[in-house]
Amino acid sequence: MLWRFIFFFSFQAVGGLVGWWQAQLWGVAVGICIATWCWFLWDLWRGNRVLRWLRLGDPQLAPRLRGLWGEAADRARRLLRQSQLQIDASDARLHEILSALQASPNGVVLLDGEGHIEWCNQTAEGHFGFDVERDLMQSIGNLVRDPDFTRYLNTQDFSRPVILQGRSSTASRPVRISVQLHPYGDGRKLLLSQDITALEQAEAMRRDFVANVSHEIRTPLTVLMGFVETLQTLPLTEDERQRYLGMMSQQSARMHSVVQDLLTLSRLEGSPLPGMNEWIQVKALLLRSEEEARGLSATLLASQNKQHDIVYPSAEDMLGAGQIAGVVAELQSALSNLVNNAVRYTPAGGSIHVRWESLENGGARFSVTDTGAGISPEHLPRLTERFYRVDRSRSRETGGTGLGLAIVKHAVQRHGATLQISSVQGKGSTFAVVFPASRIRANKLPSVVRPPASIQPMADASVH
Ligand code: ADP
Repeated sequence: MLWRFIFFFSFQAVGGLVGWWQAQLWGVAVGICIATWCWFLWDLWRGNRVLRWLRLGDPQLAPRLRGLWGEAADRARRLLRQSQLQIDASDARLHEILSALQASPNGVVLLDGEGHIEWCNQTAEGHFGFDVERDLMQSIGNLVRDPDFTRYLNTQDFSRPVILQGRSSTASRPVRISVQLHPYGDGRKLLLSQDITALEQAEAMRRDFVANVSHEIRTPLTVLMGFVETLQTLPLTEDERQRYLGMMSQQSARMHSVVQDLLTLSRLEGSPLPGMNEWIQVKALLLRSEEEARGLSATLLASQNKQHDIVYPSAEDMLGAGQIAGVVAELQSALSNLVNNAVRYTPAGGSIHVRWESLENGGARFSVTDTGAGISPEHLPRLTERFYRVDRSRSRETGGTGLGLAIVKHAVQRHGATLQISSVQGKGSTFAVVFPASRIRANKLPSVVRPPASIQPMADASVH
């Protein structure tokens, strides 16, 4: 500031001196006056340059000036740069927050005080069928027309979510969305939506499962209680007593099988995946299943003239099948269940053909083909559901629990294998398991395979 005065007075002094030189006293007055005006106009021009630059607001274009205006411009430039940095930092932060919201698996919609959409992420677009470009600043009440949502908006009670049909919902693929509003700030609202289709399905499955288990246990239990009451209250002959006790034993065996199969399933779901350390002779698995199948067939057809024609690979072919990596009890349970089902659902005189084939890709295919009743196509996709039975009475008569194929599916999936089912009603069925190459290896030396005494079938996989 001091320099500004010194400069101003120097300017006037120079004006005065030039005036004196030209016209003595009058010249001094006029010289000082002209010098003052010149200085004023020059200062105005400098100030105007600063103002013009400030109007543009670009720190890069700051005028290079000295003196007071130079310092003012410099300070303004620094302040501008500082606020520009702050704006950039908050822009980056906002961008990060919006990216995080965009990545959210839930739908997020930001609403202003009047319920207009200010922003929404892609998940919300999918849930409600919004189009960010088109629907920005539109009222949510106009876009989501579900009566339940309108009621929810009108009641203004947002303590609970409301369940709506998703925009992509169809009769065959229903989509259920849970939507909740969370008020915040100055009348604004955050709308969160979540796809709960899978959750609802899992809950429905859990309910069905509990109902099925209760039913499966309650039926034999009721019969058992009836027999106990009869034994307690009625005077029975020894023959009748023995007959009742036999039937009671059947019912308790049925309950036992259901409980054992349920335990097997829960063990399959809960245990770690089978490793690649344990190699089992395929021959041992096949021999064991053959033994069981022939035993079951003999029991089921004890009173019949005709028997089953059960065909297995020759001992040599069984040996050539090599080895398989996995959990012996699970593999045995899967293979035996399939062969036993073929025995159970094939009438006397029918044939059951068991094969083990090596595949070109190094994998292997185990298959059981029977000439039984077969299964009509609409049942095929549901066969591996728990307690799903096509032929209920045949299943019960032959000691089935409705869990056998569910166990097979789990056991083979855990070994990276797939279960394939093909069937023609009235002609028969083929159940096959395709094992990946990684789990199959050839026998190095012809080894002597002992009968499978060491193989304990899954204690809880009921033998069908
Ligand atoms: P279950 O204990 O009732 O046999 P599974 O899960 O083993 O239960 O099989 C489910 C249903 O699939 C059976 O109830 C039966 O109707 C049908 N099924 C299974 N295997 C065969 C087969 N080889 N031939 C015909 N139907 C079969």
